Amino acid sequence: MSIYHRAELLVSAAHARQFPPDLGAEVAFAGRSNAGKSSAINAIVGRRGLARTSKTPGRTRLLNFFELDPGARIVDLPGFGYAAAGAEERAGWESMTTALSQRAALRGLFLVVDSRRGVLARDQELIAWASAMNCPVHVLLSKTDKLKRAELAGALAAARRATAQRATVQAFSAVDGTGLDEARKQLNQWIKK
Ligand code: GDP
Repeated sequence: MSIYHRAELLVSAAHARQFPPDLGAEVAFAGRSNAGKSSAINAIVGRRGLARTSKTPGRTRLLNFFELDPGARIVDLPGFGYAAAGAEERAGWESMTTALSQRAALRGLFLVVDSRRGVLARDQELIAWASAMNCPVHVLLSKTDKLKRAELAGALAAARRATAQRATVQAFSAVDGTGLDEARKQLNQWIKK
């Protein structure tokens, strides 16, 4: 299974006008803060420290574009869900994600959901939004190494119920590698590798 050892940060965008040219294929990653999104990106891409798991203060609102190969990018959306997030922050997030959704290059969205918390209202909003844009959503139910087998089965069933026909769902752990091949397969399918 291919991994992208040469992946690198292309641009950290604070505004849609800083996005790279809308060419090739792009796959976005979103999730509530602390859901395990950075760890998932690093594991799937196969480059430790690519998306920093220790977030740099002040840079958490940026959209990070990483080039995997020429013409293939992943886009790391700022984590959402802090209760403290104000209207201004939310408006900035929404204007950038709307601009992202209008790009011809966008092929799909990985939504990282902590398996111990499940699919919450804000996740549902994002899934509905992506569905409305005809953007396929694949949920990574993260940190499954923390669950017992029966708990995992319950979490998967609940997530599938919550997302119904609007997203596919898989178990994922950046710690023990659960679901890594499946997630890479989805990424490669979207970017046609
Ligand atoms: P982000 O805010 O969504 O980017 O989340 P991070 O990737 O920074 O992870 C948040 C916290 O969860 C960190 O302490 C990670 O070490 C931890 N974490 C991330 N993925 C896993 C996982 O698969 N298993 C476990 N046990 N912890 C994880």
